[in-house]
Formats: sequence, structure tokens, C-alpha cells
Amino acid sequence: MRMLYLYSKMPDDIFAMVNALEALERVDISARNGTYRHVYQSILNYLEQLCEHHIVTDLIDIDPDRSQTIRYCKYCRRTFD
Ligand SMILES: [Zn+2]
Repeated sequence: MRMLYLYSKMPDDIFAMVNALEALERVDISARNGTYRHVYQSILNYLEQLCEHHIVTDLIDIDPDRSQTIRYCKYCRRTFD
């Protein structure tokens, strides 16, 4: 349900690019040729240039005793330092 809320506010083009990226990431590594990498990088560039990042801060567990703060865009999933 939470994801539906997030996606409902995402622009159509960004939604399509993120879905395309997820589909490409399911392709076996042995099938990733030069053209594949070109398309993949083009989508990354598109998101880099046109996503109006909505950065959220979250806490992830590294191990049972430690956690780490991460910042990421809730639309394109890019992480930030
Ligand atoms: Zn973004």
C-alpha cells in the first residue's frame, strides 16, 4: 500500500524509466552486451537529469547492533551521501 501511494505521485516518465531499469536489471549478466549497457546508461542519465528528486532519510540495519542512515530518492532510488 505504501508503494502505491509513492508511485501515485511519481511523474509518468520517471515511473516508466524506473520500471524499465528494474526490467533490465533482471537480464542475466551474460546477456548484457554493449547495446544493453548503452540503453541502461541512457536511462540512468535520464533519471539523473530529469527526476525531481524527493530525498528521504531512512535507517538500515548493517548488523544486529548497528544501523546506518541512508538518503535516497523515493522516485528514482538513487542514493545520496
Ligand atoms: Zn530521483
